[in-house]
Amino acid sequence: MAALTTVALLLPPPPAASQTPGAPRCTWATEYNRTLDELGEDRALWRVGDVPDTGWGEASDEGAVVDALVPCRYVADVVRHEHMHLQQVRQFGSGRFAAFVLGADRIEIVADCASLLAGSRYTPYVDSAGGCSERDLRDARQLLRER
Ligand SMILES: [Zn+2]
Repeated sequence: MAALTTVALLLPPPPAASQTPGAPRCTWATEYNRTLDELGEDRALWRVGDVPDTGWGEASDEGAVVDALVPCRYVADVVRHEHMHLQQVRQFGSGRFAAFVLGADRIEIVADCASLLAGSRYTPYVDSAGGCSERDLRDARQLLRER
């Protein structure tokens, strides 16, 4: 249900991995709420739902969705990544204009580099790019400053 002014930004899941034995118990709602609080996000812009296809998160000019099927240990990283897309909307006024300014191919890597700087360990776009360039990091730091 993408409106013409909406740029859908999907965060794909990683390959399946097993739960680490002895790892602290993870509670989905706690991870979700704690991360939104940590980022200072307005919960009215967020919902838990079904992200189309195999995506785990999606952001638009209207807000963000985290797929209910995201494994607990990835919830905080997915929230951080989608938060960075909302920051791009805040910085540029819309996802479409963010894509125009940053380059449509750089929207994801910049969001992922900012998510990495904010503490995420699951950063698939950074992984597939082999890291963040200086330009990516500069744009990512700018996103972190955006309020
Ligand atoms: Zn994304």
